Amino acid sequence: MDEKNKGTLYLVATPIGNLEDITLRAIRILKEVDQIAAEDTRHTLKLLNHLEISKPMISYHRHNEEVRCDNLIKELKIGKNIALVSDAGTPGICDPGEEIIKKCIEEDITIVPIPGACAMINALIASGISTKEFTFIGFLPLNKKTRKEKLEEIKNSKKTIILYEAPHKLKSTLEDLEKILEERKIVLARELTKIHEEYIRGTIKEIISKTENIKGEFVLIIEGSSKKEKNELNDLTLEEHYSFYEKQGLEKKEIIKKIAKDRNVNKNEIYQYFI
Ligand code: SAM
Repeated sequence: MDEKNKGTLYLVATPIGNLEDITLRAIRILKEVDQIAAEDTRHTLKLLNHLEISKPMISYHRHNEEVRCDNLIKELKIGKNIALVSDAGTPGICDPGEEIIKKCIEEDITIVPIPGACAMINALIASGISTKEFTFIGFLPLNKKTRKEKLEEIKNSKKTIILYEAPHKLKSTLEDLEKILEERKIVLARELTKIHEEYIRGTIKEIISKTENIKGEFVLIIEGSSKKEKNELNDLTLEEHYSFYEKQGLEKKEIIKKIAKDRNVNKNEIYQYFI
């Protein structure tokens, strides 16, 4: 078939709470497509009713992704335009989408993202924690081994970390983070774009004490580790090395001990240098 006759798959971002957060372009695309593939058709129907759009819908969720993919590809191949939406935010971000996108690429079907709300990006930009480099982890795995590996990754990461968490799992996630984070800054972004939107800032201990019976949807933003590797520290001058620990609030005696350990020298040598 002539490629030009194929349809387009639009990846349409929808609001994450506040219904005003839908773009004019997203509304137009939802009106123009032949069909909408939705994670939960009942959920999307509420949005469509609000926008006064009536459109055939097909469910496309984690448990029928593979079967539905083939149907959708068939429709796209005969020239139908399809919008993919998830329950909230950007499709494909901790939501279904990856499978159909891969298949479309294989079949040379055009994919067009329609930008809009995404919880992680909005939590990050309002957090006050560095946006320069970040790692999006999504939900922490539940499997013990992979969860431990992820926690180790977070512990050592110098980049800002972004986590999603379901309300009923927040407590256990915060408890696991407490074991690895020490004094790093954390922001818990709650109920973004909704009436009870708030940002709870502090160390992990402070966050735990402030979130006893908290409810809602959450994104966790975690400051990157400022811990330096031994070889990085040893490239510093002794004064820089000293000030690195001083900034962490350590006492002179403790600093000298640490420098001596990092550099594998006797602590008296370091002590002599600084007097
Ligand atoms: N696709 C979505 C996006 O673009 O952000 C994410 C979907 S994921 C299944 C749902 C998770 O996103 C929630 O458990 C929560 O961590 C986060 N989330 C979604 N909406 C949120 C909101 N309004 N406030 C805070 N977190 C939210």
